[in-house]
Amino acid sequence: MGGFFGVASATADGSSDLLYGTDYHSHLGTMRGGMAVWQDGRITRIIHDITNAPFRTKFEPEQPRLRGPVGIGVISDTDDQPLSIRSRLGHYALVTVGAARNAAELQRDAFQRGVHFAESRAEEVTLTELVAMMINQGTDLVDGIRLVHERLEGSCSLLLLTDGTIVAARDRWGRTPVILGRREDAWAVTMETCAFPNLDFEVVRELGPGEVVRVTPQGVETLVPPSETLRICAFLWVYYGYPASTYEGRNVEDMRNRSGAILARRETIEVDEVAGIPDSGVGHGLGYAAEAGIPYRRPFVKYTPTWPRSFMPQDPNERSRVARMKLIPIADLIRNQRILFCEDSIVRGTQLRDTVRRLFRAGAREVHMRPACPPLLFGCPFLNFSRSRSELDLIARRVIAHMTGQAAGDPPSEAMEPDSAFFEEMCRRIAAELELTSVRYQRIEDMATAIGLPLGRLCTYCWNRCG
Ligand code: SF4
Repeated sequence: MGGFFGVASATADGSSDLLYGTDYHSHLGTMRGGMAVWQDGRITRIIHDITNAPFRTKFEPEQPRLRGPVGIGVISDTDDQPLSIRSRLGHYALVTVGAARNAAELQRDAFQRGVHFAESRAEEVTLTELVAMMINQGTDLVDGIRLVHERLEGSCSLLLLTDGTIVAARDRWGRTPVILGRREDAWAVTMETCAFPNLDFEVVRELGPGEVVRVTPQGVETLVPPSETLRICAFLWVYYGYPASTYEGRNVEDMRNRSGAILARRETIEVDEVAGIPDSGVGHGLGYAAEAGIPYRRPFVKYTPTWPRSFMPQDPNERSRVARMKLIPIADLIRNQRILFCEDSIVRGTQLRDTVRRLFRAGAREVHMRPACPPLLFGCPFLNFSRSRSELDLIARRVIAHMTGQAAGDPPSEAMEPDSAFFEEMCRRIAAELELTSVRYQRIEDMATAIGLPLGRLCTYCWNRCG
């Protein structure tokens, strides 16, 4: 994934806002962080590897070098950003969030036009490089962004810093949010509104799908009006958005509480306590417990002093070790208990099975799992989203392959119909594989109800290929 933040300040220095505003996107990526500021006709940028240290720790000592009234910052899970581009359209810095399904085709096309890529340290041409290449083909920056929206298959929201202004563009289908904020002496643009309250910004409005605006210290000017068709990613609310953030007027924590309450209303079993798998399962669990009138407890606590961020190594063994070390079980809250856990989603299930075994070893009588969304069946083609990167890894797809005897091809439609016998059997097998007492998934229409948007305005591709 990734996230970005920009500030245009009427004072001489917006670097403190930029530092903390960008830092509030740290839950969206763990690989690279970067910032660029404009001052007196010059752009200064700094990029750091944040794999082993939080963004703020790396950048705080650099703040004196980043003084300037206007700047952009990014947390990225993929590439070195911001790029600094000198082209016939001027000197600009660029950050992007998204993914290009047709990256190979765009790259081939660029080579045929004699374009070369030499900017980043990545082994492959990155999304940001491809986007810069397309922007440079426009008659001006706005025409270039129009080309990005037209040609890129996938998703791309971006911030571009040039000549004392920020150009902000939301993805064509609005899959990721881009939100404007105002303070007396500055304007800001963010993906996560949780960046605003502590910096004293107030939300002014969200960009619509495909909208492009120019942000200056004096105000905001629309350069390309929004389109009507919205397909915002439903996973923002279910999993990766920060609880204090709000998109399309719907707060994340509030959605999670509603989602848990809806799950509770459909429940048929009795348990002694409800819990949420930290962190994103907590909001769902609290909503469930409140609705069911069952105590919410914490049979696992996260060791926050040294595991504060969602650090996720690429190596599966290392990932399992990190997941295990982060959570400490409390045997006194587990022994002899029938426990119902709320979780954002079940991906591969490997770490979850380890958690379930530990619960039974600590004396749990029953362990039930209630994911806040339907079974994941498809990889995300729009964002670089780790929850559903490889379809073959998804536990539901593995179970379906066993049930149908077909490892390849699309899953049958019954796998998306919660009232079908096929779906029931699939859940039974998933529970057996994870050694759970039971698993019951949130229905897709209940997920949309919890979000508060019609299904037709959400991207739900991960679950039913509608997006
Ligand atoms: S495919 Fe899934 S993760 Fe990707 S945008 Fe759609 S809902 Fe979000």
